[in-house]
Amino acid sequence: MSRSAPKGLPWPPSRRESSSPRGDPVLRTSKLVKIYRADGVTVEAIRGVDIELAVGEFVAIMGPSGSGKSTLLHVLGGLEPATSGEIWLLGRRVDGLSTAGWAILRRRHVGFVFQFFNLLSNMTVADNVELPALLAGATPRQARKRREELLAELGIADKAGAAPARLSGGEQQRVALARALSNEPSLLLADEPTGNLDSSNTRDVLRLLRRAHSDGQAILMVTHDARVASLADRVINLFDGMVADDARVVPIPRRVNGVGDIVELRG
Ligand code: ADP
Repeated sequence: MSRSAPKGLPWPPSRRESSSPRGDPVLRTSKLVKIYRADGVTVEAIRGVDIELAVGEFVAIMGPSGSGKSTLLHVLGGLEPATSGEIWLLGRRVDGLSTAGWAILRRRHVGFVFQFFNLLSNMTVADNVELPALLAGATPRQARKRREELLAELGIADKAGAAPARLSGGEQQRVALARALSNEPSLLLADEPTGNLDSSNTRDVLRLLRRAHSDGQAILMVTHDARVASLADRVINLFDGMVADDARVVPIPRRVNGVGDIVELRG
């Protein structure tokens, strides 16, 4: 793996870099639409979504299967083009970016955890996790330190030298989260990051997400678990490709009842 980091990028990325002088939100969409067309069939997966995430805000997305949650994350991460509408990231309009433009933006500012973990199979766990930090401008030493911290927090430090294929689904999911946080992104897009985990591993993941959140990273997370969603600042409910509800979570329970309490409820 190449160890040459791009020159001239400050590391770690400053949260101030993400909060523009005008105080723009990390993410804003306006009338966002995604229509799939294939074999004469048209599916309106996203139908005019307006959402906004402030710097460091933690927002959960819920909604029934097929309501457009994954599509929304994919479009917001530039993995699929929007059909119409606007996406603003860190005060900059990005919906018209090329594939290469999105790749550069993601490298620096966006972490992504997919439902399928998309780890690079020919690299070790350590290299998978260090790569985004290196690409974002960290030195090899900084990237290694970040990787050690993340894997330790997720309880998989002993897997650093392993190939991803040797890991269980839950372990791969945690590696994918460590990789997504490796470049200290301004925005983390996470599609069910606790979907394959037992309660103890869920607790580790939620602790890490809470720390990322308190470090000022904005998180947009799809989840089916109301107890996981209760850690968020806001819960957006999607229904049929539209925002059915966008409600602030009362902050007191999150401060009084920590992650441990919430996960204990899982029995
Ligand atoms: P959710 O994540 O809430 O389960 P999705 O975003 O996966 O929902 O899907 C929303 C709708 O878009 C569904 O009707 C789904 O079948 C459709 N859809 C998703 N991806 C594609 C695709 N690549 N091509 C065609 N239709 C798709």
